[in-house]
Amino acid sequence: MSLQRRLTLFFMLIVILPLLVAGFIVQRVIVGEISRRAVLSLRPTLDATVAIYNREEESLDQRVRRTVEGDQRFTALFRTGREVALGNYLERRLEESLDLDFLVALGRNDQVLGYASKAPSFLPGFRPPSPSAIARAEPGASNGMSRTPAIPVEVAGKGTQGHLIGGFWLDEDLLLAASRSGVDLSVISADRLVSSTAGVEASFEVEVDYIDPFQLELGEDAKAAATKLGGGMGIIASTPSAPITELSRQVLTSMLVVLLLALVGTAGLAYLLARLITRPLEELSQGARAIAEGRFDHRIPVRSKDEVGQLASAFNDMSGRLSQTITALSSSRDQIQRAVRRVGETLRSTHDMKQMLDSILNTAADAVDADIAVLWLFSVARGELYPAVARGLDTESLGRVKVGDGVVGFVAERARPLIVSQVSGGPAFSRHEPQFPHAIAVPIYSQERIMGVLVVYGRDAAQSFGQEELDTVSFLAEQGGVAVENVRLHEEAQRLSLTDGLTGVHNRRFFQMQFRQVLATATRFERPFSVLMLDLDYFKAVNDRFGHQRGDALLIEFSQRVKHLLREVDTFARYGGEEFICLLSETDVQGATTTAGKIHDAIKGTPFGGMDEELVSLTVSIGLAAYPDHGDSFKALVEAADQALYKAKQTGRDRVCVASAKPDLKLAN
Ligand code: GH3
Ligand code: MG
Ligand code: MG
Repeated sequence: MSLQRRLTLFFMLIVILPLLVAGFIVQRVIVGEISRRAVLSLRPTLDATVAIYNREEESLDQRVRRTVEGDQRFTALFRTGREVALGNYLERRLEESLDLDFLVALGRNDQVLGYASKAPSFLPGFRPPSPSAIARAEPGASNGMSRTPAIPVEVAGKGTQGHLIGGFWLDEDLLLAASRSGVDLSVISADRLVSSTAGVEASFEVEVDYIDPFQLELGEDAKAAATKLGGGMGIIASTPSAPITELSRQVLTSMLVVLLLALVGTAGLAYLLARLITRPLEELSQGARAIAEGRFDHRIPVRSKDEVGQLASAFNDMSGRLSQTITALSSSRDQIQRAVRRVGETLRSTHDMKQMLDSILNTAADAVDADIAVLWLFSVARGELYPAVARGLDTESLGRVKVGDGVVGFVAERARPLIVSQVSGGPAFSRHEPQFPHAIAVPIYSQERIMGVLVVYGRDAAQSFGQEELDTVSFLAEQGGVAVENVRLHEEAQRLSLTDGLTGVHNRRFFQMQFRQVLATATRFERPFSVLMLDLDYFKAVNDRFGHQRGDALLIEFSQRVKHLLREVDTFARYGGEEFICLLSETDVQGATTTAGKIHDAIKGTPFGGMDEELVSLTVSIGLAAYPDHGDSFKALVEAADQALYKAKQTGRDRVCVASAKPDLKLAN
């Protein structure tokens, strides 16, 4: 999971979890409070009901008695026993009495003689008791009513003729008068429900005998309290559970809606917050990746001045510096490479010792950024070193140094390169050497013998030298040694006069010596060189026609023409008879083909001969082989050139042929 997702989730959790807990607590508190208030209103409802009941029942018998007291018509009707008339009479009496609901007249055998009742407003499902049920009931109340004890009806002279009973209903009017909103009232007689605002379905598992004012638990969220009423009745006040459950559901729903909204809001905010934190991190990691891939121009946007912004701008500074350093490094590397190539070319293309030593010295000094350098040469005869060339100094101001003396003498003696620092010790300069705090001194070899010491000097701490500079100067000194060797060899060849007696060009032996030298240099520095084998066409015929002497003259003129077309560093030798060979240093197949073409054209283009001689037209066949394409030894290359020459002869003469590639040569062998 990405850091941004994890942060988003984390932020959401720290907001949502407390919100969930708080919501749960609030829901419980609200529902609990509503339920507690409902319970609180139970007792007052019960008390009010009992008070109303008691007030109604107070002197109930006197009120019944008063309805008929002293009325002769009643006793007369009673005596006659006419039921309907008695009923009508009682009906009228009841209408006059405000606080009675019914009257029942019973005969001597307690049979019902007359009955009147006010229209009862019983709750749905409940019916008022019948007149005989009223008569049978205990005085007081039962079956949803309250009744008086049977009041005897006396008829003068005849004694008790019957009884009168009256009372009131425990109907809706009474229950609703006492009940408060949200509270149901139920009346029980024995264990039977006789009236209830909760409907006939209400059921209470309690008997009146056991009722003592107490609180009943009726199930989840519903509460009830009960007390005794008169006449074996009990009254129960209860809170219906449905509204509370409904309310708690509503509260829960609202809480969920609030939670959901909070969740959405929090998710949005958390996402933004996480993005705010992770975006700079993302940008930083992109920057690091860019650097890893070598894209140093990559920059991170700096959006703020806080810690993140500071980090971003520090990162940008770092990549900027890196980029600058790398540019500087690669340009200085290019500079060194160019210098090395230039010096290599100079060294291989000149036989002037002074010029060559100058070139070595200046390139070494440039490569390590030094403005003072001296190349000391070893004089074998005197066993000392003398300043041959110098930069930034006059060689006249310096003296000769004995082997073993000072820095130069030390390096010549030990034949080891040395980094000199006056701070870290090491050999001290002799009085004939320049005196500077820093220096690099490396020996120059020629044919395994020390021939000199190259020293570059540093003026101050900024010009101190390390291993890298030492390697550079050593490399240049090595090249210098090879070049010096070349010059020496050249001079040696001159001395031994390894030249051809007839033509004055070099002979075969010199060619072989020179070849070895060029091959060693080419192998060491991975440079190309080429060999051209030349043979004049039909020269026997020329001899036959013009005579051997004229033939000799033609060979001399031929040699001069070819020699003029070559560079000083190339070697041109007579290989035998009218066969010549060229050694072209630093020249690949392409360059050699050009040179061979020039020779071919120069011979063919101008006839041979002096002012008063018959002109002779000559052509030449040339075989070309190059190192390393066609061989990497004297034998292989000369053979390859020879075979190319043979091919030129075979295919009609008067042309240049290039040796076939190495695999073909192998097949031929
Ligand atoms: P091609 O090379 O075209 O096959 O024919 P060619 O007549 O040149 O044959 P080849 O190279 O075999 O002959 C060499 C001839 O060169 C033989 C000889 O007469 C002549 N020759 C060799 N050395 C000398 C020399 O020193 N002076 C003179 N004048 N002629 C020489
Ligand atoms: Mg020939
Ligand atoms: Mg020949």
